[in-house]
Amino acid sequence: MPSDSTVQVLLPLALEGAYTYAVPQGMALAEGDYVRVPLGPRQMIGVVWQVGGAAPEGAKLRAVAERYDAPPMPALHRQFIDWVARYYLENPGQVLRMCLRVPEALAGERQQIAWRASGREPDKLTAQRARVLEIASDGLARRSGDLAAEAGVSAAVVKGLADLGALEPVALPALAPFSEPQPGHNPVELSSRQQEAARTLRAAVTARGFSVSLLDGVTGSGKTEVYFEAMAAALAQGRQVLLLLPEIALTGQFLRRVEERFGVAPAEWHSAVRPRERERVWRGVATGDARIVVGARSALFLPWARLGLIVVDEEHEPAFKQEEGVTYHARDMAVLYGSLGGLPVVLSSATPSLESLWNAGRGRYGHVKLEARYGKAVLPDVSLLDMRRQKMAGGEWLAPDLVQAVGDVLAAGDQALLFLNRRGYAPLTLCRTCGHRLACPNCASWLVEHRFRGRLVCHHCGHEEPVPRTCPECGAEDSLVACGPGVERLAEEAASRYPEARIAILSSDLSRGTLLADMLRDIARGEYNLIIGTQLVAKGHHFPGLTLAGVVDADLALETTDPRAGERTWQMLAQVSGRAGRGGKPGRAIVQTYMPDHPLMRALAAQDRDSFLSNESEIRQRAMLPPFGRMAGIIISGEDREQAARFAQSLARARPEASDVQVLGPAPAPLAMVRGRHRFRLLVMCAREVDIQAYLRQWLAGVKTRGSLRLNVDVDPYSFL
Ligand code: ADP
Ligand code: ZN
Repeated sequence: MPSDSTVQVLLPLALEGAYTYAVPQGMALAEGDYVRVPLGPRQMIGVVWQVGGAAPEGAKLRAVAERYDAPPMPALHRQFIDWVARYYLENPGQVLRMCLRVPEALAGERQQIAWRASGREPDKLTAQRARVLEIASDGLARRSGDLAAEAGVSAAVVKGLADLGALEPVALPALAPFSEPQPGHNPVELSSRQQEAARTLRAAVTARGFSVSLLDGVTGSGKTEVYFEAMAAALAQGRQVLLLLPEIALTGQFLRRVEERFGVAPAEWHSAVRPRERERVWRGVATGDARIVVGARSALFLPWARLGLIVVDEEHEPAFKQEEGVTYHARDMAVLYGSLGGLPVVLSSATPSLESLWNAGRGRYGHVKLEARYGKAVLPDVSLLDMRRQKMAGGEWLAPDLVQAVGDVLAAGDQALLFLNRRGYAPLTLCRTCGHRLACPNCASWLVEHRFRGRLVCHHCGHEEPVPRTCPECGAEDSLVACGPGVERLAEEAASRYPEARIAILSSDLSRGTLLADMLRDIARGEYNLIIGTQLVAKGHHFPGLTLAGVVDADLALETTDPRAGERTWQMLAQVSGRAGRGGKPGRAIVQTYMPDHPLMRALAAQDRDSFLSNESEIRQRAMLPPFGRMAGIIISGEDREQAARFAQSLARARPEASDVQVLGPAPAPLAMVRGRHRFRLLVMCAREVDIQAYLRQWLAGVKTRGSLRLNVDVDPYSFL
């Protein structure tokens, strides 16, 4: 066979490599082309990874069914997929799957037909048909695939209804074109400090090569305005810009700021974007027409045509680590993309990660600092409240000094914020009579009461049940008591102390739909004056009227096995404190702690980041923790505890000898059971110079899991549960 009569097609599946297909007569294929190919009884979308290549001996090749009329996947993107797969020990097909989430975008304009109910009943109305028609009768036109998925039926059911005339076709409007952002539309006048920072970032962009700049500026110093200048420079080159944010910081407020600066609304890419808009953005990114995309971590896997700059805002955020499916860290992969593609990357934060600071310290990253807030705003004054000396009644969580301070702020007509990183009403419910604690049936965790909804909820698997009236163990009535506070309970205390306050509760329970966006807008407008929130409030929001931030339990995050607990606590507390005093009035932060002598708390009160960092670095260095060493977690899980334990032990015994690699465990995971699966962890640690992937590959090469057993590798873990 001539070499161009076969192609290697990568499929979005957990396969070792690409599959060989025959190229039919008259079809010309090039690397990067999106194609439809048969696989078993199915048809799938794949990408031509290589033209030519030998077919397996004696195999009867099947032919490519169709080539899609979409811009081919760029070589850089294919290279990126292979690198991500190698780094995280995944199959490239699974990484490809993340890039093929919008198959409709490949279909081009000819398949843009949608369906809605015509009002004509079919003669034979099966339950499946009825379900489709019920959904299709709301007036919205849906594509057949979406309609089938929503109704939970096969495509044949939808087609049958269409053939009978019960569904009528509607041509979808063409995808709206993207407008071109104007680099010079509405720049602000930068302070001289900001100008200097902007000049450095602009120079990195005009150099048109790989670089990483850490934009390290206190909250409210104008980092956003400064990196906007770098974006303007990339736009002026005719290139695209990706602005990555933790999902939760992707608010209307922020998007409007981008629009005001560049004259057009940026394209958005996150979980709440509607399918048709996803399609538009995907195509716009692939053609190069979408010039600014503001997105969550998965935006990195869009098929960029000519990306000229990646900005990662809030780069320290653990939310950039994807924990489900292919685990990857979007900040790290942004840097990888930049180095593969030869383009600049800007990492921005008021509380940079130790990793990024370390890279900056060694000269690998540029370090651009903004040490003062913009304009009249000054950094808040931080004070510690020693909870050992405060008189507190049972069921109260706000110490008298904090109560007083909040009262003063409200009386002055300003806003106050109370931060507690716990969703729901109470983290634990127990029976006063028999001591029974209400636990999740599927997980080794307590059920969290959500009182507004009257439900007990597992925060790990989503299990829900109504709050029982009697103890399920001993049957005692009115004996269940809530232990500890969540934000809902704190709101209850606040409402009784400040009956006049207009209280907003901000937690991820709100993040579905537009509720959260509305609330953030209303807070910024001053419609609420007391905000009670989880870590959601620590994420870059700008509330000009806020003058007091109270941290209800600063010790909470320190009580974990996570080696980054200290860093997280520092970041969270510094970010929360940083919400105060961003407008004209000075702000203050009050931190309730039982450990006022802890070095971290002392550094926080003194706002002495350097002392925190040197202390933290020393701890990490001694323990060879990142950034001083490398880590990978191996998680074994299975439905049968004994079987999972045995497998984990035999895996540990099979590890290759290597004097420079340390393996800890297996040990039951701190979260020993999730969704009915028992979990064991191994932790692999080594020096930075060691190729941890090579070690893991060697170790796991021949390992097969059987039955319900699963083995997950987590390179650079952020979760240790
Ligand atoms: P950061 O991203 O560092 O937290 P922002 O860029 O959000 O800071 O700036 C904080 C506030 O100060 C914003 O309201 C911003 O519009 C304003 N600001 C910052 N720099 C300037 C400037 N040079 N001119 C006008 N307003 C500015
Ligand atoms: Zn559960």
